[in-house]
Amino acid sequence: SDLIRPEIAALPTYNAGLALDRFRARYGIDCLAKLDSNENPAGPCPGVVAAIRDEAAGIARYPDAGNGALREDLAAATGSTADRLIIGNGSEDLIGAVFRTVLRPGDHVVTICPSFGLHEFGALASGAHVTKVPFNADWSFPVEGMIAAMASEAPRVLMFSSPSNPAGPAISAEEFDALLTATRRDTLVVFDEAYLEYLDPAARFDAMARLEAGPNPWLILRTFSKAYGLAGIRVGYGIACDPELAAQMMKARNPFGVNSLAVAAARAALRDTDYLAHSVKLAADGRVQLARKLSDAGFACAPSQTNFVFFDTGRTATDFAEALRHKGVLIKPWLEEPYTRWARVTIGTEEENRHFLEAVEAIRCPA
Ligand code: PMP
Repeated sequence: SDLIRPEIAALPTYNAGLALDRFRARYGIDCLAKLDSNENPAGPCPGVVAAIRDEAAGIARYPDAGNGALREDLAAATGSTADRLIIGNGSEDLIGAVFRTVLRPGDHVVTICPSFGLHEFGALASGAHVTKVPFNADWSFPVEGMIAAMASEAPRVLMFSSPSNPAGPAISAEEFDALLTATRRDTLVVFDEAYLEYLDPAARFDAMARLEAGPNPWLILRTFSKAYGLAGIRVGYGIACDPELAAQMMKARNPFGVNSLAVAAARAALRDTDYLAHSVKLAADGRVQLARKLSDAGFACAPSQTNFVFFDTGRTATDFAEALRHKGVLIKPWLEEPYTRWARVTIGTEEENRHFLEAVEAIRCPA
């Protein structure tokens, strides 16, 4: 029928993985290690649970549609201003909102490959064309390729994540500058920093200051789903180049899309910086160990600055991941060429990481 818009009909269903209750129903065993979604295995800080409980008394009322209190907190935490902040029902909500705000059918978007699925999805849903530039063979950012793609496509939006999901590396300050210098002035630069908190201090630079110094409109995206351990409650935020972009994006978002429990949770999570540092250290230590063990076992790993490792499984990744599921371990196989042998494993607790490594060993040498 011609009821459905062709852009929507052409989209595949988003590969969101398998919920834990479905795991048991399908495999007949408990999931021992859920390492498919880059969640924080330590969960949120204790203050979050208390804040949600307190806030629960007020849920008969609509939340503040302007998310004023959280925007103020984030302005202070990020060195921005509240009128340039926008809160979303997860940062995925803001990816959709920014595309709806700026894209016209037929527009172009440039991104990298492999990348977070919604960077492409949301653009296609808006009727845009997407150009995906593959990473360099050494897993450095494909800056030259991105510059070439921008020269030929004149994109409305350049969007990518750094540290990158699913590959793991982070762009350097020099690469970032080279990219910004070569970007057309009317291109909106959307810099997705979902994994910022995990970035090694030595590799950090102030992306916001660099964006601010340049001529392009820009948007930085961040989330409470990863290092803050709040994936289930859904809250992310954007920092826009000016109040105008933030205000226009607010119109492309549902007015009450961010619920009051999520706001209370995010505000509490922001206050506990010690806990954040603890979560980041857990991931960093686990990542170094896990990547070393995978490499020792002969699996090529992309260098990671995140809470996950992308590695070559040596066979079709969906088969590899399915074999691990039968051992109670959930990871994310990549479905897109040329990465269909690659899979992403999230850093879990020490115990989960051990289950993963044991399961990998077991499926290599079946008992
Ligand atoms: N950006 C990137 C790069 C991600 O990896 C994710 C989640 N996997 C998101 C955005 C969306 O996260 P959320 O909607 O939970 O904030």
